[in-house]
Amino acid sequence: MSETVFSKILKGEIPSYKVYEDDYTYAFLDISQVSKGHTLVIPKNAAEDILSIDTEDLKHVIASVQKVAKAVDKAFQPDGINVIQNNRSFADQSVFHIHFHIIPRYKDDTDGFGYKWETHPDAFNMDELRNSISSAID
Ligand code: AMP
Repeated sequence: MSETVFSKILKGEIPSYKVYEDDYTYAFLDISQVSKGHTLVIPKNAAEDILSIDTEDLKHVIASVQKVAKAVDKAFQPDGINVIQNNRSFADQSVFHIHFHIIPRYKDDTDGFGYKWETHPDAFNMDELRNSISSAID
């Protein structure tokens, strides 16, 4: 895997606002705060995305996401929390070291983060979709 800004943060070559660290994971403030307390959680073992990360490493990351989300909730009492994880540039991934965004949401955060999905309730055959995915599960 090529070096990323996050591997440089892990090596201490780039400063970060660390909020939590354990043997497997590292959590730090996103440099571009979408909302107050926007935090990233990454594995120390570099992996590009959700498709390639080792499953045990992923379990550690998810546990840390919960730990940090609880801390963010306690610290700022947001009205909600989004946990977002982007894979591949087409899906807005810009740093290719897997990371989870913890984004606290506040009632008055309308000028910041806020996406709305356009839904297509009748566009697909649900049986076909279900069969395609369930038969591809390893
Ligand atoms: P994504 O678009 O999901 O790949 O998110 C990458 C995130 O990394 C963005 O929200 C950036 O603001 C954040 N980021 C990039 N460089 C740094 C850095 N040096 N320290 C903290 N966050 C960073």
